[in-house]
Amino acid sequence: FAKNQSELPYAIFNDDMLAENMLRLELGSQLRHSLERDELTLLYQPMIQMCDGTTAGFEALLRWEHPEHGTVSPNTFIPIAESNGLIIEIGRWVLRKACQQAIQWQAEYGRPIMISVNVSVRQLSSSGFVEAVTETLRETQLQPECLKLEVTESFLMQDPESTIELLHQLRRIGLTIGIDDFGTGYSSLSYLHRMPLDILKVDRSFVESMFDSEKNASLIRSILALAKSLELNVVAEGVETQAQLQRLQDLGCHFVQGFYFSHPVKPEAASDLINHRWL
Ligand code: C2E
Ligand code: MG
Ligand code: MG
Ligand code: MG
Repeated sequence: FAKNQSELPYAIFNDDMLAENMLRLELGSQLRHSLERDELTLLYQPMIQMCDGTTAGFEALLRWEHPEHGTVSPNTFIPIAESNGLIIEIGRWVLRKACQQAIQWQAEYGRPIMISVNVSVRQLSSSGFVEAVTETLRETQLQPECLKLEVTESFLMQDPESTIELLHQLRRIGLTIGIDDFGTGYSSLSYLHRMPLDILKVDRSFVESMFDSEKNASLIRSILALAKSLELNVVAEGVETQAQLQRLQDLGCHFVQGFYFSHPVKPEAASDLINHRWL
């Protein structure tokens, strides 16, 4: 709130804001029960390996099947879960569920399937996170190499020194670490250089605008060059057209993900995509 209310040119709350805040409060308290009521689910979007067109793995994406509001997007409820602390419990559930799914696919299809799990910074920096991951891997028997954690670039840079230490711990366990939404978070190059990362995920906005101008196309080229010098593999997310795929292939991008191949789908539908040849 502004210190001096008279500086405000209009009322603090209008009806829309009031409704939005009510909904937020309502969702926040209902979210507490979503786990026990079995309303959270994971969808899976395939990640395609460019060199041979196979499915390298899946990204697990969370959904809340709300009894009245229908499917609620993680962009809506993850920030709520972060602010009321529920993200810890929800995050652990996501991790366990995704690892269980990966090990089940591996047993069925007889080859390693990579699973990517998004983790928010509040979860990552909570005490006992590394132990919880270790415990989940032990419990599910998933090889650590098959678990990738995706952390948003903007969050990685919030407290880089302690993040570097934490990522080292996770790396020692054997996990793969990816930096999500890359290009939107103002990374400091010196920190980036010191972060133990494996994968750089180019933000969708760069793929979307790659044909708008020569300048935009060269942005992606620069990101790929940067990744190469940091010895990171690159995933392009948000690939929606054949033309984008073609250009990313020419530029030497290692993995692609996007609606052009598949939307995030339920586990049963994802199973059918495991042996699909995409290219
Ligand atoms: P993200 O990790 O960057 O995931 C990519 C988002 O882009 C997903 O949205 C996905 O459905 C969408 N997407 C994939 N391909 C395309 C495409 O070709 N075109 C377009 N327009 N969109 C595409 P979604 O599932 O709504 O997730 C949004 C964000 O919510 C994620 O962004 C991630 O940051 C967060 N999130 C999702 N699941 C979890 C979770 O389990 N834990 C945490 N902490 N965050 C999560
Ligand atoms: Mg992600
Ligand atoms: Mg992303
Ligand atoms: Mg995102």
